[in-house]
Amino acid sequence: MSKEFTPDPALKPTPEFKSDSYIPLKQEVYVKKETGLDAMAGDGGYQEEKYLGNYLRAKMKRDNKRFWAGDNISEYVTEENKEQLISEAAEAFETVLDRLLIDRETDPNSKGTARRLAKMYFNEIMAGRYEPEPDATAFPNDSEDRYEGMLVVRSELRSMCSHHHQPVSGVAYIGIIAAQKLIGLSKYTRIAQWCARRGTLQEELCNDIAREISKATESENVAVYVQAVHGCCENRGIMAHSSLTQTTVLKGSFKDDPHTKKEFFDNIKLQQEFAPR
Ligand SMILES: [Zn+2]
Repeated sequence: MSKEFTPDPALKPTPEFKSDSYIPLKQEVYVKKETGLDAMAGDGGYQEEKYLGNYLRAKMKRDNKRFWAGDNISEYVTEENKEQLISEAAEAFETVLDRLLIDRETDPNSKGTARRLAKMYFNEIMAGRYEPEPDATAFPNDSEDRYEGMLVVRSELRSMCSHHHQPVSGVAYIGIIAAQKLIGLSKYTRIAQWCARRGTLQEELCNDIAREISKATESENVAVYVQAVHGCCENRGIMAHSSLTQTTVLKGSFKDDPHTKKEFFDNIKLQQEFAPR
């Protein structure tokens, strides 16, 4: 399955296949029945299903579990079956490279690219889909001299747009008014990066970070401001090299109290003066 190169049958002429007699097909070229999704009534169906990926998609459909590019599906992916999924994705990327007419047999830079891509998607650029939420140990903040102020953390983000699979890079400024418990400072960034390492829209990413930070800190007063540049605007399309996209999500007092909102944005300016980016 994870062979370096699987020769395409079309490149190994058989008596039935004559390369000089190509006749365009009138019907659709690819008509595969979604056997994994439709035909499988019970989990036992995996025995007949060639691909673990098809089995898992069928299972998520049955469970009404959404598996969009920005969703976390870690409860369906174990460390053991991740290896199998990487091998299956590598096989599929081999087909993509073949269809792109890239010679992965003799081009030394394209040998192994299919597997590198599969590993990169699962372990790096989309890792936040397959890994469970970072464990954020909380410390009580309920003594008499508890911290009641605002906390603003700046987190570096690397993400990827769902539309073009182009990189998105920037920073998130996460603000909270401390509630009954506090989490370690690095946890804000871990949670933000866990949300970012998926296929996302920046608007959704901003919402996801706010929701997860609110969950981890049990604070209803949360604000997230994200500024990022998008590869899909810089490398293609409008080729806008200095475009910056800003999104803001305000909850609780950040939304309702103009002073809290102002303090948050003043803090962001102070952060940018301290370390521009
Ligand atoms: Zn895009």
